[in-house]
Amino acid sequence: MKSTNAKFGLLLFLAGGISLSSCTTDAELFAGINSNMVTVDAEGSTLITDIGLKSLSTGTDALTADQSDWLKFMREEEKVAHDLYLTLSEYYATTPAFKNIARAEQNHMAAILTVLTSYAIEDPASSENGVFNNADLQALYDTLLEKGKVSLVEALTVGALVEETDILDLEKVYETNPGDDLKILAEALNLGSRNHLRAFARVLNTNGVVYVPVALSADDYTAIISSGWEKGNALCTGDQIGSGKKYGKGSGKGSGKGFMGGK
Ligand code: ZN
Ligand code: ZN
Repeated sequence: MKSTNAKFGLLLFLAGGISLSSCTTDAELFAGINSNMVTVDAEGSTLITDIGLKSLSTGTDALTADQSDWLKFMREEEKVAHDLYLTLSEYYATTPAFKNIARAEQNHMAAILTVLTSYAIEDPASSENGVFNNADLQALYDTLLEKGKVSLVEALTVGALVEETDILDLEKVYETNPGDDLKILAEALNLGSRNHLRAFARVLNTNGVVYVPVALSADDYTAIISSGWEKGNALCTGDQIGSGKKYGKGSGKGSGKGFMGGK
């Protein structure tokens, strides 16, 4: 939640923007892998595909302690999302978002496990639903589950808050001086979280509630919510680039529909 994270994210985007005309290695890296790396369904549930992931999980050098800690934390944080949505799907069975997005979170957990395994790092995640090794994440889960049980709107709000939290914690990878594999993993997961945030806000909207961000800045939230599903389109093709949107690299904007009015 530190402001430095948001700044770094913006810097990254700007760096990407500057290099677009020449399509440097970095841009190609994100473009090539991202375009193969994600699938997004009609409701915004976002999966990371195996093919893209395996190609980036080289695991040749050991991770630093910071990198390893970040990876383990994110593995359990994705589990918080998964376990919450799965449990809430039983309370609100007629709202498919919970079950659908829980499936995506399982996929995100698996994506992180692939990278953990490639570096021979022990998996911190319990196989038991609602159980976490990280005490902070256990407390977060417990609090949010109680909140989510209150009503459908509360549960959807919990979902949006979890996705906001994910976005900020995923951006912390850049504090660890990451290699390309961690960067791409984080960017793909972040794209997924932005889509899930859009998804929860959208279902809230159909329930008559306008979501107000808690963790993200109003500007960052607006930048996300005012664009459509991101599908990992290429950076180098040029059509996303002219938009000048902070999150333009992920696209989905071809639909031209506003979030509030879109279906
Ligand atoms: Zn996720
Ligand atoms: Zn998510």
